[in-house]
Amino acid sequence: MRICLSFAALVLWLVPGFDCTGRIAILTTFAPVHCFALNVAGDAADVSVLVPPNAGPHDYAFSPADIQKIAKADVLIMNGVGLESWLQRGIKSAGRKDLLVVDTSAGINLITGLEVRSLPGVHSQPDPDAGGPNPHIWLSPINAIKQVENIRDALVSRDLSNAETYRANAVAFIKRLNDVDAEIRLATGSLPNRNLITFHDTFPYFARDYGFNVVATFEEFPGKEPSPRAIEKLRKTIAAGNVSALFSEPQYSPKAMQVIGKEFKVPVVQLDPMETGDGSKDFYERVTRKNLDALVAAFHGGP
Ligand SMILES: [Zn+2]
Repeated sequence: MRICLSFAALVLWLVPGFDCTGRIAILTTFAPVHCFALNVAGDAADVSVLVPPNAGPHDYAFSPADIQKIAKADVLIMNGVGLESWLQRGIKSAGRKDLLVVDTSAGINLITGLEVRSLPGVHSQPDPDAGGPNPHIWLSPINAIKQVENIRDALVSRDLSNAETYRANAVAFIKRLNDVDAEIRLATGSLPNRNLITFHDTFPYFARDYGFNVVATFEEFPGKEPSPRAIEKLRKTIAAGNVSALFSEPQYSPKAMQVIGKEFKVPVVQLDPMETGDGSKDFYERVTRKNLDALVAAFHGGP
């Protein structure tokens, strides 16, 4: 229904949510995929997000209002890898049989478990709770490019009339992501120390793609206080040396981490895993560059 002149179209135009321009409605789950979809869709489709800017995707409290949002969407774009485990029930309840659900992780080489590499001399027990693949795929621009390609292909398949726009927008955005990738390689290529201690298990894909080692995480799971055993392991890892900084996250209090940082005279520097945010068009590039600056400054001896 693309012509708004007929009586039937006029009636539909009066229905809340109906778009007489014929633009499809794209619903995304959280900030990074929201940003990716905004860049691919451009002005050709309407893009919205489920998880509000101040809430995270791990423990999102899914509400009946969210079911209504899904019911009004033509395309639902998610990160995948189990991050949005709260979503399946909502999709079922919304009852949209023609809803196109897009898992942007398709084709990405997943990392299972925490993949923490111990420093020499530090005995590390495998975490018994570490189970399925790590969901933080978007934090490597290499994976982000694959996610953007998956979004492009889904939108082209659902809305052929705007296929050329989606393809052109994806080319332009992927070029910008390739620029970010090149900047990371240039800025980190000659760092003398490549050991990371992050707040939760957020950066293994970044570490894999850019040659860093995640030697420990502060919390095994977001929001779960580290156990005394985990704190002891962390102390041993830092005491073994070769740790330039502890990386906190803006979404969680750095206080407990700062206590350990002070004890070992290691700075605590913030890296943003982008689990919350405004999802603006330049969100991903802006935050990735900010993280890169913080990372490089930390490895050069200060925040
Ligand atoms: Zn996370």
